[in-house]
Amino acid sequence: MTDFAAGTILGYPRIGRRRELKRAVEAHWRGDMDAATLEARAADLRRATRDRLADLGLGRTDSAIPESFSYYDQVLDVAASVGALPERFAHLRDDDGSIPLAAYFTAARGEGDAAPLEMTKWFDTNYHYLVPEIGPETRFEITSDRFARQVAEAVAQGYVTRPVLVGPVTFLALSKPTDAAARTRPLDRLDDLLPVYVELLARLRSAGADWVQLDEPALVSQSLGYTDDELAVAAARSADVLASAADRPLILVAAGYGALSGAAWQALVSSAIEGIAIDLTRGEVPVAVPGLDSKVLVAGVIDGRNVWRGDLAAAADTLSAAAGLGSARTVAGTSTSLQHVPHDLADEPELDPRLVSWLAFADQKVAQVATLAGGLLNGRESISAELDAATAALADRRSADGVRDHAVRARLAELTPTDRTRTAFEVRAAAQDAALGLPVLPTTTIGSFPQTGEIRRARAEFGRGAIDADAYEGFLREEIARVIQLQEGIGLDVLVHGEAERNDMVQYFAENLDGFAVTRNGWVQSYGSRATRPSILWGDVSRSAPITVPWAAYAQSLSSAPVKGMLTGPVTILAWSFVRDDQPLSDTADQVALALRDEITDLERAGIAIVQVDEPALRELLPLRTADQGAYLDWSVGAFRLATAGAADETQIHTHLCYSEFGIVIDAIAALDADVTSIEAARSRGEVISDVAASGFDHGIGPGVYDIHSPRVPSEAEVADILRRAVSELDVRRLWVNPDCGLKTRGYDETLASLRNIVSAARAVRAQV
Ligand code: GLN
Ligand code: ZN
Repeated sequence: MTDFAAGTILGYPRIGRRRELKRAVEAHWRGDMDAATLEARAADLRRATRDRLADLGLGRTDSAIPESFSYYDQVLDVAASVGALPERFAHLRDDDGSIPLAAYFTAARGEGDAAPLEMTKWFDTNYHYLVPEIGPETRFEITSDRFARQVAEAVAQGYVTRPVLVGPVTFLALSKPTDAAARTRPLDRLDDLLPVYVELLARLRSAGADWVQLDEPALVSQSLGYTDDELAVAAARSADVLASAADRPLILVAAGYGALSGAAWQALVSSAIEGIAIDLTRGEVPVAVPGLDSKVLVAGVIDGRNVWRGDLAAAADTLSAAAGLGSARTVAGTSTSLQHVPHDLADEPELDPRLVSWLAFADQKVAQVATLAGGLLNGRESISAELDAATAALADRRSADGVRDHAVRARLAELTPTDRTRTAFEVRAAAQDAALGLPVLPTTTIGSFPQTGEIRRARAEFGRGAIDADAYEGFLREEIARVIQLQEGIGLDVLVHGEAERNDMVQYFAENLDGFAVTRNGWVQSYGSRATRPSILWGDVSRSAPITVPWAAYAQSLSSAPVKGMLTGPVTILAWSFVRDDQPLSDTADQVALALRDEITDLERAGIAIVQVDEPALRELLPLRTADQGAYLDWSVGAFRLATAGAADETQIHTHLCYSEFGIVIDAIAALDADVTSIEAARSRGEVISDVAASGFDHGIGPGVYDIHSPRVPSEAEVADILRRAVSELDVRRLWVNPDCGLKTRGYDETLASLRNIVSAARAVRAQV
């Protein structure tokens, strides 16, 4: 056991520093690259990753380097290895029953009538995994040798790496039942799945793995429908069965993404596995428990989710405290996989060097782990230069201009509850009805219109200086005029300008607010081959000039129908950026909120009567542990209200949320006190309408009637059905008619056909009420 490294990371970005994997996989999907070439490219990428991690200081043969590659998703990797793809993909198996790469991709992407696996957020991150469907009929068996092949590939390259698999408890806890009505839950199938993991482990061992990492972050979550105790019992059971296997690598159970429950910690320590990795950036150093003296403890002291260089000396202190628990060996580690951060700061030559000195991307975090490992082996004095350098950078950051902006702070300090409170809803609603004069069941869209190749081209040309600002602006104005005309032609009641000027609903605001930096190559996998470049929120946020006002005002000048102003809310801006770690999120959210509040005032002055503030990420940031949820909802709702409560009574504030799991946040949505809230509803044929009705929600509501995730055009009858359901359950005076979400990923043909059907369905139902 002592051959385990002194430092390790729980996983590494797999998309490639120039998104090589994305390019290869998408070329393969298009038919431009055969499977063998794709496999060769992926193998090259894995080899380069191992070499890079060794260069950065992780050991070549002591299991320090994680084998965490994935073509698409780590949950799908397990599903495809243990036979857990649903029946509708069965025909894609090979004759011997194994699941080839083509079937794996089809499960992710769908084909014909076979819908892809559902996608949802991985814990409280912005990474999306594919949700396995598990029922009594699921037959677990080995269906792929992918994991073992990668271990063997590493051995051939001269490495002993540590394969990383989502563990059995987490795999099942993240799954959904094939039949929602069934009484068995996926986790009830643990005993059927474990023998397949036993076999997988045996294969990893014979391929040359000394250690295996089983990721069990489900053990930190109270949001998966299982109690702490249920999960701890499952973890103990899993550890028992896997540890008793005759022929296996040593087992490291990794529970990142938050504080491990006491029950789970107890269960793991008293089990027969050999190692435990815990997140010490979110959780405290746990209490010592008998049994730890025979285990490796990987202390996750380097944050796997933020981009800050942080306080390395404090991390070293935490590591010492963890070492004091008396484990057989303490290892310096990351709190989670590094898949949530970009590859390397060296790829950002355009970032301000001073900002760079405060940051750490994946490669810099690996180096930090290596430094701390050196400290464990050779004493803290041996790394004092590195610790001091990090401390100096931190001090520099604290005192830097822009990190603290006195004007922003003074304004924040003066806020009172009145700043977050509007007049009573009924009073506002009457004022807005009088000002807007809309029909019942008003129709609108969520904001973006299709982002055509032409729009992307113009933006890219402007970005590289091929066209000047005037030409670009002229192009955008034409685009806005076209979109306004289309909407008038279709007969929509409330129009939008189409968002053609935005590459991304968060980055656009980050580029236009002080306190943010944007990267060139800072890609982070969002799902499959998709990656985003989160902005870095490093300083106090302020708005030096109006951002959206010229576009909104121009659009409004073209039509007598109201045009909605379109903003991204504070919580979503935080959720999809890398945020500062030196003050409470609530303060950062309020700073963003004040900037948006000023923007709304300017929109009102420019004649905009309706402003939509999108908060699609409100649910995503909800803490995994119930005890933390109340405080989060308080500040997130408070920030939204701060952003919007400066609006006049006649100004109608809309918000938009796009997910259908409302139960847990419905009270918070009501507390936002937006005049109108649009939500996703079409996929479930309006099922959420009953949840909204049952909750007593009494403000304006627009349940989506068009599932924009699919190119399918909903028929007028289908839309009218959802509307009738809404009319029968909710107050018709408060109902709006809109798609599920923005249209930017759709093509024009299907968009126009769908919007026409929506308008005619609304007119038909209107005539009946
Ligand atoms: N207004 C945004 C749009 O239409 C909302 C996007 C979202 O909810 N993710 O694109
Ligand atoms: Zn949406």
